[in-house]
Amino acid sequence: MARIVMKFGGTSVANVERIRQAARHVKREVDAGNQVTVVVSAMSGKTNELVGWVNESSPLHDAREYDAVVASGEQITAGLMAIVLSDMGIPSRSFQGWQVPIHTDDSHGAARIVDIDPTELDKRMADGMVPVVTGFQGIAKSGRVTTLGRGGSDTSAVAVAAAVKADRCDIYTDVDGVYTTDPRIDPKAHRLNKIAFEEMLEMASLGAKVLMIRSVEMAMAHKVRLVVRSTFDDPEAPQVAPDGSPGVPGTLVCDEDEIMEKTIVSGVTLARAEAKITLRDVKDKPGVAAAVFGALADESIVVDMIVQNISDDGSVTDITFTVPDSEYDKSVKALEAARASGAIEYARVTGSKGGAKVSVVGVGMRNHAGVAAWRFKALADKGINIQLITTSEIKTSVLIDDEYAELAVRALHTYYGLDRRDA
Ligand code: ASP
Ligand code: MG
Repeated sequence: MARIVMKFGGTSVANVERIRQAARHVKREVDAGNQVTVVVSAMSGKTNELVGWVNESSPLHDAREYDAVVASGEQITAGLMAIVLSDMGIPSRSFQGWQVPIHTDDSHGAARIVDIDPTELDKRMADGMVPVVTGFQGIAKSGRVTTLGRGGSDTSAVAVAAAVKADRCDIYTDVDGVYTTDPRIDPKAHRLNKIAFEEMLEMASLGAKVLMIRSVEMAMAHKVRLVVRSTFDDPEAPQVAPDGSPGVPGTLVCDEDEIMEKTIVSGVTLARAEAKITLRDVKDKPGVAAAVFGALADESIVVDMIVQNISDDGSVTDITFTVPDSEYDKSVKALEAARASGAIEYARVTGSKGGAKVSVVGVGMRNHAGVAAWRFKALADKGINIQLITTSEIKTSVLIDDEYAELAVRALHTYYGLDRRDA
């Protein structure tokens, strides 16, 4: 017997028929003798509609009332799920955040979970019941309802799983797992059996939007094993892992130690619309980098890749970095303003929009010499010019011309042996 938290996203509970399909997955686990707590999102589109109503009522509104309104989407689906489960003969009841309770801080609209009392959920599960908890919401010390920020129900599910010490937190969504790269870019992409938390964090922040990043951070901190799987799979079909072996159909996101058959690289990701900015002949003295990136931070611009050259004689240097295309004009303005005010001294600023960042991610890269070298060869073989390179322990990224983006992804995917065996 296992204890499982099953989370259903917005498309999985988009209408009553889908809630019934989701409930059949719950029934399968309950029939297998497992203890289950369900966490639900609002019906897809519902939260947007609620946010729209709030803004229509007044663009300048009290954040506490915003939360009171937008938290209601999950209340509906939790109640409906409990009704459907009961109808299938599974004793169930709904719990809103405050009824669990899920304690959060008081940052309305972007609250953080502080603590979850597992007593009530433990008791219900021990009694053979399936509690259905509203995702996305909690209660502040003030007694007011809070929400966790958009996409927050993944985080709710992980927090509940940590609180009740679940063996697994299954995230049911509209994709059937995590792939080595976007299958729309490379049809040879394959679904991973397992991926390490750290890899998932890199993949998520690089644009593989299956899970909210905060939920992965929390899962890693509390060692909550996550499974990404599809609600639209036949709930009564035999349970088979992506590689065909008996197991959970989906990708397990887990501790590195749990991954036996380690590959060097687990995935290749692509982020487009990256602008490159270079400051030429920057006066080289302690504090220049702080001044440059401070000026951008003051404008809330998120900088990604950064390269600073060594200066020949120690007097001037070049600094190159990337920002999203949408922040390019604002960045250049901020840097020119900083020069005008004397905060930074440089000769000129140059740059261009429309770059593509291609990254390879894998915990196996940590102790493998030559990984970077192979990669550069893979790109060189295709005649792709690299503009910028950055590396971290488990990731290396290159900035290239967007024209070559998809070609680069496919080349690296093949190079690192990630192509589907039957492809
Ligand atoms: N319903 C909320 C949203 O749309 C939370 C979630 O679905 O994760 O952002
Ligand atoms: Mg989501």
